[in-house]
Amino acid sequence: MSTVNALFGSMVFNEGVMQSRLPKDTYKSLKKTIHTGVPLDISIANVIATVMKEWAIEKGATHYTHWFQPMTGITAEKHDSFITPADDGAVIMEFSGKELIKGEPDASSFPSGGLRATFEARGYTAWDPTSYAFVKDKTLYIPTAFCSYGGEALDKKTPLLRSMEALNKQALRILRLFGRHDAKRVYTTVGAEQEYFLIDEKLYKQRKDLIYTGRTLFGAKPPKGQELEDHYFGAIKPRVKAFMAELDEELWKLGVLAKTEHNEVAPAQHELAPIYTTTNIATDHNQLTMELMKKIASKHGLTCLLHEKPFAGVNGSGKHNNWSMCTDTGYNLLEPGKSPYENAQFLLFLCAVIKAVDEYQDLLRISVASAGNDHRLGANEAPPAIVSMFLGDELTEILEAIESKSSYSKREKVEMQIGVDVLPHFPKDTTDRNRTSPFAFTGNKFEFRMLGSMLSIAGPNLVLNTIVAEALSQFADQLEQAPDFTEALNKLIRRTIREHKRIIFNGNNYTDEWMEEAERRGLLNLRTTPEALPLFTAEKNVRLFARHCIFTEAEIRSRMEILLDNYIKTIQIESLTMVELTKKDILPAIVAYTSELSAAALDKRALSEDIDISVELDTVRRLSSLAACIKSDAEKLEHALAEVRVYPTAAEQASFCRTVVFVAMQQLRASADEAETLVSAKHWPFPTYGELLYSI
Ligand code: ADP
Ligand code: MG
Repeated sequence: MSTVNALFGSMVFNEGVMQSRLPKDTYKSLKKTIHTGVPLDISIANVIATVMKEWAIEKGATHYTHWFQPMTGITAEKHDSFITPADDGAVIMEFSGKELIKGEPDASSFPSGGLRATFEARGYTAWDPTSYAFVKDKTLYIPTAFCSYGGEALDKKTPLLRSMEALNKQALRILRLFGRHDAKRVYTTVGAEQEYFLIDEKLYKQRKDLIYTGRTLFGAKPPKGQELEDHYFGAIKPRVKAFMAELDEELWKLGVLAKTEHNEVAPAQHELAPIYTTTNIATDHNQLTMELMKKIASKHGLTCLLHEKPFAGVNGSGKHNNWSMCTDTGYNLLEPGKSPYENAQFLLFLCAVIKAVDEYQDLLRISVASAGNDHRLGANEAPPAIVSMFLGDELTEILEAIESKSSYSKREKVEMQIGVDVLPHFPKDTTDRNRTSPFAFTGNKFEFRMLGSMLSIAGPNLVLNTIVAEALSQFADQLEQAPDFTEALNKLIRRTIREHKRIIFNGNNYTDEWMEEAERRGLLNLRTTPEALPLFTAEKNVRLFARHCIFTEAEIRSRMEILLDNYIKTIQIESLTMVELTKKDILPAIVAYTSELSAAALDKRALSEDIDISVELDTVRRLSSLAACIKSDAEKLEHALAEVRVYPTAAEQASFCRTVVFVAMQQLRASADEAETLVSAKHWPFPTYGELLYSI
């Protein structure tokens, strides 16, 4: 066995470990719970807990924790040790079924968006047996869902699991109509490609903006950015390579399928892609990946920046969410297949996604909305804020032929009948073919590209699962009633294409023409988070989530409040940081430099009247007037910030933050960045873009 083989999953209480260590009956019961969701009997839980504890102790664990994903977007954990006092004054290591199944963290400080008053702070964590437990940092981690005393979801995991259930139910209905009875379950699968920046930790520590906000709030453009695209897929530097090697190793131990690592477009930017897996596991794994990236970077004297836009002027970081649906028999439902029969089924699932994306553009946009991601969407690098789908020319032509009942002639001249075997093999779209589309079909899966690098993938995937479940359920309702299945199927596919083809766009999404065209087509263009979020509670969305038992209306409202609140706080923290840096660092640096120049000019003059002092004078003049601008810009920003509270609702406050506060921030930055180009390197108070981007 190779070392990687031995390493992979070595810290995971996975299938193999369970099978070899659990008593046969216990293992069977657990499998049943995992596959059908029936609750686990406490006596069985006790057996599992004991076995899990023994295994974890062998792996060096002394503690256990319920690991959950509250609405902060990061993971949370509270560690308890296994120790229990024994009669003889010693301790024994204990872990019960009750402790495995249910935890009760003091939850009062996690955001609940008004769902749970602080006085009834109780929140419960419940074991999610579909995601394996693992040992990390001498602690047994038990993946859990987190909910309130009243059963409302307080986390990202619970609604994700509910959405997977909804999709499973509706997809199975469709499969039955096609006579597929072998599949017992349909899962959604996800591979999340993660982008990030690595910079030198020593430099990071000198930038308060990076420390407080994760991004640079000031910084003049360096002479070289990403113009030459010489970093993309370039040779990986030894220090970065060492980081990646250790990251891979640690991820492999935890069973994370880290696969591909390469340099990205911007200097100091990199990407890690895992092999796809079931959505809830992919979600856990992506959280672990982000956490380990930060931790391991620090061990190498590096800092990993996961912010969506750490540097102005070069690309930000995103996360490509590759998504598909798969049966428990291993069949990918977005695989075009080889026979006509599979084609028709593929076309129906494809149509479900087309309909879903068109009808719920708003929800997809909301699912990726954050202050940080607003810097990317619509800028000239990431997909625009307009949701559309790329299908490629061939598939689009096929759909057009179906719609118009005409012949499709790429391969052979045949009358388009649904299910006729004319589907060509779809090559994967390479990044060159279309990297501008927010939602691209790439051969046998969709790649949703609007996610910001920092985002938990739970939100976008729960939306995807739910909206596709809804489309499938409407299809199933119609087809199950139909006297002639084939005829009904033909009609349904045709109608869906006709009604929703406006969402398909294969061109360049970055152009102004597309903005205009999209508007003509009636597609939404929700440029910013404050514009997008209020649509969360639109009646059609409330109905959708209620119908599939994903969210109650109260849960949606609470989530919208949390997102708005997060947006407002982010802008506030960034503004306060800018004001502080301006007063404490930037203005003093300008004053120090100009007084040095003034003194130098005076010295020169003392030597002789005819020495040229224009450099000193011009610089002092320009910097003095810039300093005055900077001071007044900072004051304007402070005033704007003070006004936020005047607005009564979170939605209005967020909107004011965007239209007034954010604009004041940009103005202040422009003046300060110009000053940076004039002040000597010695006087400038923090590392420049050049140093940050080219330090490794
Ligand atoms: P590239 O995008 O570089 O061409 P791939 O298309 O092979 O590379 O894969 C990109 C990501 O998509 C990987 O994380 C991969 O595991 C994932 N992926 C591939 N097939 C599926 C699928 N059926 N469901 C979800 N993700 C998938
Ligand atoms: Mg890709």
